[in-house]
Amino acid sequence: MSCKHFGRCGGCTYLDIPYEEELTIKKGHLDEALGEYARYLGILHPAPHPEAYRNKMELAFGDEGKDVCLALGMRKKRSMYEVATPTNCILICQDFKKLITHVLKFFRATDEKFFHRKLHTGTLRHLTLRRGEFTGEILLMLSTTSTLQTSLTPLVTSLLALPLEGKIVGILHAKNDGVADAVKNENITLLHGRDYYNEKICGLSFKVSMFSFFQTNSRGAEVLYDVVRKFAGALPKSAASEARALSRPHELFEKSSAKTDIGLDLYCGTGTIAQIVSPSFKKVIGVEIIEDAILAARENAELNNIQNCEFHACDVAEILNSTEGADVIIVDPPRNGLHPKALEKLAALPAERLIYVACKPKSFARDLPTLLAAGYTLQKIEAVDMFPRTPHVEAVALLRRVDT
Ligand code: SAH
Repeated sequence: MSCKHFGRCGGCTYLDIPYEEELTIKKGHLDEALGEYARYLGILHPAPHPEAYRNKMELAFGDEGKDVCLALGMRKKRSMYEVATPTNCILICQDFKKLITHVLKFFRATDEKFFHRKLHTGTLRHLTLRRGEFTGEILLMLSTTSTLQTSLTPLVTSLLALPLEGKIVGILHAKNDGVADAVKNENITLLHGRDYYNEKICGLSFKVSMFSFFQTNSRGAEVLYDVVRKFAGALPKSAASEARALSRPHELFEKSSAKTDIGLDLYCGTGTIAQIVSPSFKKVIGVEIIEDAILAARENAELNNIQNCEFHACDVAEILNSTEGADVIIVDPPRNGLHPKALEKLAALPAERLIYVACKPKSFARDLPTLLAAGYTLQKIEAVDMFPRTPHVEAVALLRRVDT
């Protein structure tokens, strides 16, 4: 497949090689990042769908360089105004492409200009698209300055009339007059429907609002969470994961149905992991710094009728002082890994098992010696290709205390 923006839009790194070859390259990168711990690396789970997997896209209005006509797409590398319109993009689904083309066509027929990041002229800023891969629900938000002249009613009507595979459940309008090039959770009007979409992961439902963190590859997230669930000792639940489990050799903990007392889900976002592993525990405590995400986690647990999860909005480093009782700790920190203070406190906790979800395996390899020095042994690592066509790959590691 060819794309005229390849190499400049910042989206894909691997476009012109077979997916199997990409996996081999990624396995090499993982070995390199993990260094001496690479010998613990087991399976690298391929992405269930290596293309059109993104459930979220944030696009900017701009132009296409020589072609000064209005454009809408990903910002090109080293460019202030040029964007790559993703009509041929392999990362996004047909519905997203139709929506982008439609919104662009609508504004090209008006006098509106893109917001110029230097001159601060123009009104059109961003278009954010989100969708539930398993529910087909689509949420869309247009960001403009408050000086937009064009009525958005015909845009809403025409968007709703588009023939899509999924269904638009909400259209939002954000007014932002700030100079920073960021989509802001301020001055938002609901133009149609509701301000969230639903997604179903591993048999559970999740309400996702426009600004909530949610894994950008839903099918990949199921594979990732399955590995976490397996390491945490829970039985697979969804039909898809059941099928995957049957095709795998029986592995450590997979068939364990005994409940562990307390699980900790640190850096829990909207509480997905806590809820997915909850059948294996008497109680799971989720910790996350963003208050909105914690509110969503509580709401989702209620929706799923899960009563043994509690969620706290707090810095992980703070709460680790009062969590000595945990038997299994799951951490899913941001790309930089664990903050030294959090790492030190975590290493001192007497948990039996520690599951480290690493979106940047190099950060995990840096944190690992501290955990090993504190008495953990590395049991195994599995990786999941959550972001095909990009250089990123996630790793999940299982550590146990030597004396258990
Ligand atoms: N486990 C979640 C999300 C992990 S992303 C999921 O799979 O959906 C990492 C999360 O860590 C983000 O939601 C971020 O807000 C949170 N975070 C970052 N620093 C933190 C800190 N110091 N304390 C608590 N949470 C933090």
